[in-house]
Amino acid sequence: MPALIATHRDEVERYYTCPRCGARGEMKVTAVGRSTWGGSFALRLSFGGFFRLGRMLSDSSTSNAQDDAETRAQRDADRVLALVRCPSCHKRPRLAFVWPVLRLAGFAGLAMAGLWLAGLSVPWWATAAVVAAIGGTAEAGRFARARQVSTLKLSPGPQP
Ligand SMILES: [Zn+2]
Repeated sequence: MPALIATHRDEVERYYTCPRCGARGEMKVTAVGRSTWGGSFALRLSFGGFFRLGRMLSDSSTSNAQDDAETRAQRDADRVLALVRCPSCHKRPRLAFVWPVLRLAGFAGLAMAGLWLAGLSVPWWATAAVVAAIGGTAEAGRFARARQVSTLKLSPGPQP
């Protein structure tokens, strides 16, 4: 019996290189991966409709939420690390704020495409509000965890 909903929370050690000053080190990141049924259940539901539900339930080998949550936690660690303020130069990477915005825009696009394909007419602003609430919470959580990252090793870069 596969797990239907899984949350994987883990302390992950990652190599860190600051794109600004070149400092290198290792950091301990708290990564969180959440999974419902091997992926975005709501999205699949809107794409596939209820008639596929039975097949998704029986398809246990490819939809193990626990495995998926672990994979997501690894990706989450990368995303948190991209938001970390460098312990050496105290700056964030230049693109730190671009990725969260792009992820939210992509999420909104997928949600709207899913609803459109499912033939549901939901006002775009309602979709945007839901996406901002769900996605915004996830991104805010990453920023909070980026502040709690602990530096294990650090060697400063070539520039002071
Ligand atoms: Zn730096």
